[in-house]
Amino acid sequence: MAELTQPSDIARETLRQLAMRRIPPTPDNYRALYHEIAKTSATEGFPEKALKQLGGALPRKTPEQMRFARQFDGAVTAKNWNGVKTALVEVLDKSGAEPPAWSGLIRDLVVQLEARHAELTTARKREALEHVLASSGTPEMLHTRLQSLLRAWSQGSASGEALTPAAPAPETAATEAAQETAVPPAPTFSAAVAPAQTRQIGSDLKDLIAQLLEDAIGVLLVETPDLATEARQLAAAVRATRTAEDIAAFTSSMKQFSYRLSFVAEDQAELKAALLKLLQLIIVNINELILDDQWLQGQISVVMQLVSQPLNLRQLDDVERRLKEVIVKQGTLKKHLNDARDRLKAMLATFVDRLASFSDETGGYHDTIEACAAKITRANDISELSDVLDEVMRETRVIQLTAQRSRDELTEMRGRVAEAEQEIARLHTELSEASDVMRHDALTGALNRKGMDEAIDTEVSRVKRHGTSLCMALLDIDNFKKLNDSLGHDAGDAALVHLTQVTKDTIRPQDTLARYGGEEFVVLLPDTALDAAVTAMVRVQRELTKRFFLHKNEKVLITFSCGVAELKGDEAPMDAIKRADQAMYLAKRSGKNRVVAG
Ligand code: GH3
Ligand code: MG
Ligand code: MG
Repeated sequence: MAELTQPSDIARETLRQLAMRRIPPTPDNYRALYHEIAKTSATEGFPEKALKQLGGALPRKTPEQMRFARQFDGAVTAKNWNGVKTALVEVLDKSGAEPPAWSGLIRDLVVQLEARHAELTTARKREALEHVLASSGTPEMLHTRLQSLLRAWSQGSASGEALTPAAPAPETAATEAAQETAVPPAPTFSAAVAPAQTRQIGSDLKDLIAQLLEDAIGVLLVETPDLATEARQLAAAVRATRTAEDIAAFTSSMKQFSYRLSFVAEDQAELKAALLKLLQLIIVNINELILDDQWLQGQISVVMQLVSQPLNLRQLDDVERRLKEVIVKQGTLKKHLNDARDRLKAMLATFVDRLASFSDETGGYHDTIEACAAKITRANDISELSDVLDEVMRETRVIQLTAQRSRDELTEMRGRVAEAEQEIARLHTELSEASDVMRHDALTGALNRKGMDEAIDTEVSRVKRHGTSLCMALLDIDNFKKLNDSLGHDAGDAALVHLTQVTKDTIRPQDTLARYGGEEFVVLLPDTALDAAVTAMVRVQRELTKRFFLHKNEKVLITFSCGVAELKGDEAPMDAIKRADQAMYLAKRSGKNRVVAG
């Protein structure tokens, strides 16, 4: 096709092509095709330089003006006529809007400020007014808020919702603010009445709220990471608030947050009360324990174990029950042990008495014999000697009888002392068994965390001695919350006992099962390579699918996800457990009811 140069020819050809190519004849399509045929650029003639100058001269004082200027500049840079048009139309539209009706509003404000309200003092009203003046950005926003303040006053509350100032403002500031509202209405109201300083207060307040959420509330919520994250998100949200809608959205999120926070606070108060009860229990029983400080250590270790993990009421309840049992048992044992010791002391005292009297008597005997020996040396004839011998014989018989009696008594006493000693040993064993309760989980009878730590120590030193391998498996019951929710907490407890039993029956005797927390268990598998440990845990899973947990004669399938890790040469055991935990999470993510090697 010959090149067209005349605009009328190009226009005709453009219309023809539009029809031929079945392109809708919109102005944009027409223009694009026109430039295609004329072989000119579609943006040719876009007065970018002039428009940029115009953009540079646009006012940028309010957020609204800034937004508009940015929109305008963006459209110019993109050589987008439509964008320029939209920005201009929008701003002209806005500037043509009815200015807020300030005079009426101010009149009403003055009237309401001076009027009497049942539950409102003038000072309170001034505080609220000053707060609104300090925090509102654009004149429109200020107008809307003043209106809602008026509504709130006429309904009898200081400020409606969310407008109450955080702290009472000084009287003078309130008066000045009240006077400032008397400035005649003008579109530049916000620049005149809410100068940089007032806007600054608004952003300070935002920062304060954000800091409160991040530094104070965020830190208080370490136990509830979800809420802590939400507090941080809210802090970011309040910092980013620009428009009235942003603030409204933030206020509503904040309300929901406070609601949830109040639940957390209630929970924490209950936890504190329960903890205090436990401490009281120990303190009240401390005088029971002075006999042997190992007992105190036993009790303290329960509490230590408890506070080393996130607290929950159920755990506290468990510990309280266990502590009470142990204290009662320790109390009884203490009494028996005291009795046995008293008896032993009494017997030893008798023993010493007897010994003393025996040596008294034998002492007399020795004296007599010595006297007799002297008499014998001095004896001059047989008759004198026979008198002495008679005396010796008599004394010897007496002493023989005494010795015989003492020997019998001593033998009997020795028997009784041995019996008492045996009883004391037995009571000590019983006491150490009572302390063993501390190493076992009360519900399932599996080792608890303390017991697990001890077992790990033993196994690790064995591994080091023999150079064998030790695997650690961490299992977590799948969807246990659902089981609890649908069948009840007691059924949940029974399921934990069932899982413990099946696992214990399936693992080897030298393997150890410990309850790691909630519905998580750790299995220690000594002398086992990683793949063999995985196989062992899969065997437990299979066994669980054969031996159903029965709830009210209904079969309930319990499954678990499991991670296995082999302890490395110089690795801390807890690090291996962490690796097993990560593998367990992989097992969860890849569909649960499986075993993953870490
Ligand atoms: P997942 O498959 O991802 O592990 O889900 P889940 O529901 O098992 O895990 P989640 O951690 O959400 O829930 C664990 C539940 O276990 C919540 C808690 O109430 C319950 N639980 C913890 N300890 C006990 C207990 O001793 N007895 C009972 N009945 N429930 C417990
Ligand atoms: Mg869990
Ligand atoms: Mg679970």
